[in-house]
Amino acid sequence: MTETQTTGEERRGFEAEVSRLLHLMVHSVYSDRDIFLRELVSNASDACDKLRYEALTNADLIKDDPMLAIKVVADKKARTLTVSDNGIGMNKEDLIDNLGTIARSGTAAFLEKIKTDGKTDSALIGQFGVGFYASFMVADRVQVISRKAADDIAHEWDSTGEGDYVIRPAERAGRGTDVILHLKDDADDFLEEMRLKHILHTYSDHIAVPIFLSSAGDDKEEGGDSGPSQPEQVNSAAALWTRPKSEITEENYTEFYRHVARAGDTPSHIIHTRAEGMLSYTSLLFIPSERPLDLFDPARKPRVKLYVKRVFITDDTEDLLPGYLRFLRGVVDSEDLSLNISREMLQSDPMMRRLQKAITKKVLSELESLAKKDEKKFLEIWEIFGAVLKEGIYEDADHRQQLLKLTRFRSTKQDGWVSLADYIARMKDGQTAIYYATGSDPESVRRCPQIEGFRARDVDVLLLSDPVDDFWLSAAAEYEGHSFKSVTRGGSDLKDLGKDQETSDKKDRSEDENAEMSVLAGVLKVALGDAVADVRISERLTESAACLVADDNGLDIHLERLLRQHNQLGAASPKVLEINPDHSLIVAMARHVKHDKSAEAIKEPALLLLDQARLLEGETLSDPSAFAHRLSQVLEASLSAE
Ligand code: ADP
Ligand code: MG
Repeated sequence: MTETQTTGEERRGFEAEVSRLLHLMVHSVYSDRDIFLRELVSNASDACDKLRYEALTNADLIKDDPMLAIKVVADKKARTLTVSDNGIGMNKEDLIDNLGTIARSGTAAFLEKIKTDGKTDSALIGQFGVGFYASFMVADRVQVISRKAADDIAHEWDSTGEGDYVIRPAERAGRGTDVILHLKDDADDFLEEMRLKHILHTYSDHIAVPIFLSSAGDDKEEGGDSGPSQPEQVNSAAALWTRPKSEITEENYTEFYRHVARAGDTPSHIIHTRAEGMLSYTSLLFIPSERPLDLFDPARKPRVKLYVKRVFITDDTEDLLPGYLRFLRGVVDSEDLSLNISREMLQSDPMMRRLQKAITKKVLSELESLAKKDEKKFLEIWEIFGAVLKEGIYEDADHRQQLLKLTRFRSTKQDGWVSLADYIARMKDGQTAIYYATGSDPESVRRCPQIEGFRARDVDVLLLSDPVDDFWLSAAAEYEGHSFKSVTRGGSDLKDLGKDQETSDKKDRSEDENAEMSVLAGVLKVALGDAVADVRISERLTESAACLVADDNGLDIHLERLLRQHNQLGAASPKVLEINPDHSLIVAMARHVKHDKSAEAIKEPALLLLDQARLLEGETLSDPSAFAHRLSQVLEASLSAE
């Protein structure tokens, strides 16, 4: 930074990431450069919102200039386009922080996305909160002259977008901001009123502050200067959510969504409601069609904006929506909250809780009817946001059943998504529980050995692989009278299920063979000692030789592992080893034990069998070198026997 004492001018470098971003803006060719204007108008509108909020507690801020407005002036002679507002304005620090030195959180993400996608997509610009820099798509120099509300002095930010910018004291009649774009040679069309009008109409009609368009320095006739044209209001300037639905076009909704959500996509569903009576509010909520970047931020903050009687209050309240609806974007405008309420006081206002309840109810019932009316659309939404909605099952007991009704699953028997209603309708005779398997990814769950017996008996198993699943499953005991049951817990159920299949699949074993199996199980238990809780003959295995299961009253295996990983549990509890009496290895072991009942003789193969079951479970082995050693011995023995 260099400072000239006399002029008070400072030259400052952009942070490296901002420089890279600006370089892209300046040098890339964008197909739809128009959106720079949308971004500047959007910022101007935000600035007006902020001022209006501050003025609630400090009316002096707005007193001498109460009519908030945005002005767009095209000057053909100077080849500049200026976007002005009389909103909150920026002081010197604001100019430095917001427009230059500090890379905003979105900058890095934006650059990353562009790098991976390999295209400079202007739809991304607003989404990553780098909207202001879009100016450099059309301008080779940008001046921002701003005076913050209640300040006496103004400052100017001036940059060509290459490497650095200058901050200097400036003059401005009142509060607010002028963004002056010195248009590039190929950007003449942004001086044409018709063109500008069209752009403003397309992207900014929903803006609640009036936008006036005019031109200056229009010298159509030689030597004659027609002077500034009469400013013309180009938008309807009524908050979009207050307008009758019939007057709102699809395009209006989309552009409004992009503005409030700072998004680049088209919303996949819109919920526009007006409630009167006990609670009076209007809500205009959008379900994005793309996953927002911060969806799995630990803060789980909802991003819906709260307005009170058309005045923007905050977009940072955790009370308006439950965390599991944080993917929604849009606004809620309350008639009941007091305009004098401070952001801090909102939290304790009982009205907020009632509002949250009403909105939650509305959103869930809307999703429910969408699932009925347009299943394809609902499933698209589920695909992206299902994992978030499921958080509600454990944290919102009031809506648990409703959320379970919306929940969709993968399952062993059915392709695509399955609802619990589908599952229950296809339960086998005698089946009362809803069986599920959980794991860390869909494919490994599908392969888990505990499922084998269910598959053989044609019993459907729900396959769950979102991290949240283990948590809600431990909270949700049942759905419509059917309890949820992990396939890794117990197993006695299988005896009563699908008897018809059993005879065809399973070989009939003689009493002798059964007795031999029981002996084997007993000897294995002695050989393995405390490493297992028990050894049992399995009802659920058809292909694998052995698997681990939890006790009937133990934790689901996957949940236990998850809790251990998060240090919520101490050591793993010993599991039950189930052996498959139809598997040739087990049959061979039984034969061996028949001749030699000593536990010592079977110990090595028993330990191998146990480790194998652990591996199938996705466990790490407690002693991998012992496992490797045993395995080598077995291999060696089998080779030398040949
Ligand atoms: P975003 O609008 O997503 O925050 P932008 O790049 O569009 O990102 O703007 C950066 C920041 O600069 C804004 O957050 C705001 O603080 C400030 N800013 C931009 N334009 C104005 C304006 N006209 N009045 C006041 N502040 C502004
Ligand atoms: Mg912006």
